[in-house]
Amino acid sequence: MKAILALFTLSLLVVMNTPQAEAGITDGRLDIYWVDVEGGAATLIVTPQGESVLIDTGNPGIRDPQRIFNVATREARLTKIDHLITTHYHRDHYGGAAQLSKLIPIGTVWDNGKFEDMPDDPGEEYFTFKAEGRQVINPGTTLPFKLRQAEARNRVIPLTFTCLGTRKTFIPAPQGARSNKAICKDGRPKDRDGSDNANSVVMLLQFGDFRFYDGGDVTWNQEAKLVCPVNLIGRVDVYQVTHHGLDSSNNPLVLRSVLPTVTVMNNGVTKGCAPEVFATLTGTPSIKAMYQVHKNMRPDGRVNNAPDEYIANRKAEECEANFIKLSVAPNGKSYDVMIPVNDHKATYKTVKK
Ligand SMILES: [Zn+2]
Repeated sequence: MKAILALFTLSLLVVMNTPQAEAGITDGRLDIYWVDVEGGAATLIVTPQGESVLIDTGNPGIRDPQRIFNVATREARLTKIDHLITTHYHRDHYGGAAQLSKLIPIGTVWDNGKFEDMPDDPGEEYFTFKAEGRQVINPGTTLPFKLRQAEARNRVIPLTFTCLGTRKTFIPAPQGARSNKAICKDGRPKDRDGSDNANSVVMLLQFGDFRFYDGGDVTWNQEAKLVCPVNLIGRVDVYQVTHHGLDSSNNPLVLRSVLPTVTVMNNGVTKGCAPEVFATLTGTPSIKAMYQVHKNMRPDGRVNNAPDEYIANRKAEECEANFIKLSVAPNGKSYDVMIPVNDHKATYKTVKK
């Protein structure tokens, strides 16, 4: 009996001593969560050292900030959002920010600031909500993770989060970059997009060989600049389907250049998941799995969906706000994609770059 009691006490101690970092779980893995914000965007990244980056905050009102808060605190065990990036000034991307700042402390806000010819203005509430700091993001900006110090001591594999472009301006082509002519020759422009979508912040997260692309809602003609005449993105493992899967984005030139293995679409019940985009994705041979935050039930009958197992929310009514989680192994060589509500878990190998 004594022995059992001792064992019990010991296991309790072990549980209690499990490192619960003040900022997220420091388990060596890089985690990405797609929060269901009903056709808006809210992508939460937690670095192996427990630092967090939230890209977009969903829609105005309490629903989306509360959903983000739930995933951030219950799943990722965060007590703070270290970096918040707002890709552009549309309600489904900046809308929850002010409300979220009342639920959880926010460190630095990165966005396009107030710029000339700003087509959409998020208003003073957005520019004044409580945060530790505000920074204008520019092409080439990298987030100042604390991890960099650890890297210097060679303890971990490199992690970088880079802005490839924003406000229709992109990073310069690397010296000696090869021409992407073979793909670019098939390009065709679409009508000019005068909305703020075209100004979206475009980002690349790299963890060892693992690479994740999030282009916000950047639209067709700007996307072409990312890969033509040279490919500024390179190859990626995971592609967040741009602009909720609308066909004013997801230029096939990008898909053919970045050759993702996995795609994740933050669509809504009737928003996104456009047939043209679905065709582009299914026609990209590198793609092994397509995930969706929602089952698409668009009223025009042109419905396309991934198999149910790959969809986090399949009901139109009484949405449960199920999330999708991706978790990269500490060595960066493989990653799991999970939809807990479906008991879905699949492991993918990182492509050697
Ligand atoms: Zn959007």
